[in-house]
Amino acid sequence: MTTDTDVAVIGSGFSAAALAINLVNRLAPTARVSLVGRKAKWGRGIAYSTRADCHLLNVTAARMSLFADQPDHFVQWLSQNGYAQAGDEFIPRQVYGRYIGSCLDTALEPSGNRAALHIVDAEVADAEITAEGGFRLMLTDGVTLSAGAAALCTGAGFRRLPIPEDAIAPGARQSIVDDPWQDEWWERLPKDADILLVGTGLTMIDQCLLLKARGFEGRLLAVSRRGLLPQPHLTPRKQPGDPVLSPGTGEVSGMLSRLRASARQEGDWRKVTDGLRPVTQALWTGLSASQRQRFLRHAAPYWNVHRHRMAPSVAAEIAELRNAGRLVVHRGRPASVRAVEGQIEVEIRGRANTTLCVDALVNCSGLERCTIDASPLLANLSKRGLVTADPLGLGIWVDDASACLPASEPKPPLYALGLLTAGRHWEITAVPDIRVQAAAVAAAIAGRIGRARPADEGAVRI
Ligand SMILES: Cc1cc2nc3c(=O)[nH]c(=O)nc-3n(C[C@H](O)[C@H](O)[C@H](O)COP(=O)(O)OP(=O)(O)OC[C@H]3O[C@@H](n4cnc5c(N)ncnc54)[C@H](O)[C@@H]3O)c2cc1C
Repeated sequence: MTTDTDVAVIGSGFSAAALAINLVNRLAPTARVSLVGRKAKWGRGIAYSTRADCHLLNVTAARMSLFADQPDHFVQWLSQNGYAQAGDEFIPRQVYGRYIGSCLDTALEPSGNRAALHIVDAEVADAEITAEGGFRLMLTDGVTLSAGAAALCTGAGFRRLPIPEDAIAPGARQSIVDDPWQDEWWERLPKDADILLVGTGLTMIDQCLLLKARGFEGRLLAVSRRGLLPQPHLTPRKQPGDPVLSPGTGEVSGMLSRLRASARQEGDWRKVTDGLRPVTQALWTGLSASQRQRFLRHAAPYWNVHRHRMAPSVAAEIAELRNAGRLVVHRGRPASVRAVEGQIEVEIRGRANTTLCVDALVNCSGLERCTIDASPLLANLSKRGLVTADPLGLGIWVDDASACLPASEPKPPLYALGLLTAGRHWEITAVPDIRVQAAAVAAAIAGRIGRARPADEGAVRI
């Protein structure tokens, strides 16, 4: 069976929802937008599918509106839907998932004055260019979808456990949790279990909070190469300062020195890092390929813990666990795992080699880079020359307007959003960045397929 659509939005997370809703607002009322992704996660993706109230947004509500040009949209939704929280609070992520779901529901309602949105509960396995210059998408349910344009919003999966499979003894495998988001893995452990969390970023923080909320009382051990934890937000948030760096003005090491000096002068580094937000993407674009490599190798881990921070109440809970000795952070690299008398022994290599004896090991390595071989769809598109890897292997290569750069011209009407485009934009992980990209891509697609809503028609926006 083949169905037709004007634009196919591929994915089921925030990026896909934001783009689909922007398209519905921007395209002519006769246009049709299809959102193709697995129903279980529509609009929520990995980030907002959690059902735990202890998992909070790491950005205040006031900055999480779906629309950059309607900054109060989320806060208004909260008050209209009986939530008492204010704009400067860090809301449970599952509530944010409900907000995105409710915006999608509104977009799905038939309206004579907006483009129509359809949801297709399937994945896209492959796509090819048609003679007319559009796409034929092959879905996992056997349906074929013909689209004038398409957008990849397929996000990133989770990083594999950084331990070679042949260094894990067969008897130890059952004590290892590869994907902490997959199921309620903690249910099979006793409440006094000792648990090793591999990774010390926001995924590790989420798992610690969950274990604490579920009444676990055993030791929590966490390990990563540098042992860096996300920094806390402060409340009230200080107004960001003016950017202290400008694009294309020097070496990475010089930029970092300037940042440190400004942070010392200001007395709060948050004001300085937050002040860089409006220019972060331009700073990245202004670096040469070798400067970007150097940044990734030496500075990115430090950048990430300062840029992607913990809500203050989360930071307080983590500090409490650490002060009580219930969470201990190690520096090093887990090298091997073996089974010993009902537990597992994990060999940690680092400055001081050590062995940790625990009941379970949980992979908290965080988000994977969006490499082409990590996604069957991207691998198929790459074979057809429709997408290419970015030179740093962060995702796929796009131009400044987020249009995919193919192996050879002409450029097909194919766009990408979110972390997939980190090679071009770098900071494109969080809602405040992706929502700007979604609005810009919707405008670009509307122009490209010639189906923009006429300017004189009053828009009935969501
Ligand atoms: C645990 C966690 C917490 C976060 N918290 C915050 C926060 O508080 N604030 C913030 O601003 N940002 C946060 N982020 C950042 C987050 O990445 C973004 O906010 C946003 O959710 C990214 O959405 P996405 O749609 O690009 O990717 P994803 O959420 O990964 O969604 C991509 C979806 O596409 C689907 N898909 C993949 N391949 C196909 C295919 N071939 N066909 C159809 N569908 C496919 C996948 O199954 C997946 O559901 C968090 C991220 C994580 C992981």
